[in-house]
Amino acid sequence: MTATWVGVDVGGTKVLAVRIDAAGRVVASATRPMPGLTAAPEAVEDAVALAAGDVYGDAPPLALGVSAAGLVDAAGERFLFGAHLPWRDAPLRRNLAERIGVPVVLDNDAHCAAHAELLAGAARGVRSALLITIGTGIGGAVVLDGRVVRGAHGVAGEFGHMQVVPDGLACECGLRGCWEQYCSGRALERVTRVALGRHLDGPEVTALARAGDRVALHSFASVGTWLGVGAASLVSAFDPEVVVVGGGVSAVGDLLLDPARSALAASLQGTAYRPVPEIVPATSGPRAGAIGAALLARDGRP
Ligand SMILES: [Zn+2]
Repeated sequence: MTATWVGVDVGGTKVLAVRIDAAGRVVASATRPMPGLTAAPEAVEDAVALAAGDVYGDAPPLALGVSAAGLVDAAGERFLFGAHLPWRDAPLRRNLAERIGVPVVLDNDAHCAAHAELLAGAARGVRSALLITIGTGIGGAVVLDGRVVRGAHGVAGEFGHMQVVPDGLACECGLRGCWEQYCSGRALERVTRVALGRHLDGPEVTALARAGDRVALHSFASVGTWLGVGAASLVSAFDPEVVVVGGGVSAVGDLLLDPARSALAASLQGTAYRPVPEIVPATSGPRAGAIGAALLARDGRP
């Protein structure tokens, strides 16, 4: 029997499973809907088990990794809180291990995505990096000395809720002026709506920007500039070799990243005399969380 590992990414709208071989190649993938924020927590566990079963069939993996959108405790045992998932302080690792019958490894989705970029993506061979994932909100991870930094309580990397504008826009988290209010898919839609007077979703703004539409380009310039401004604070703190940017909003590429590069250089001290880290696109794509979780299942959670 061939050795395989499975990774399952649990997000706000879907549950995505991949099966990898010993070399880390994806050999199968499957998607199930996420039952919803108001569903019973057990229903989401069912969806994880079903998506995993879809990719392994009759040949259980050696271990299963779970990447979840929210706060996971430092031991990788409990899912503490996620704005888009119904679990609250749930012993998720044990529940899933008992249900599925294989060893389970649990981590935050951004930490999993960073693991994938570090082992097989844009940060391969790099010792220190920032990973910034821009989707509906912002996810993130810090890599120092080749390891993802989890922090004292497991919840490091919640960059999206750093305050960048005192008394700024209200955030779903209850605070004001959070970075993700200015740099996210929601921010892209808001800036476009203000300029255009009607609503377009992120993929529509992306298509317009690619076609050279001035309003859409301005929207990406706004979000990209905020990306660079926020990244500058993180670069000042951590001095990474590279800043890796992933998530749906980054699919537009340099239309987002060029304004970010300019803003980063303009927001750091002494740029004529110090290296400014490159801002590069993530390479693992929308499956980064699931692939990272499968790699953690293969390698063990460091
Ligand atoms: Zn917030």
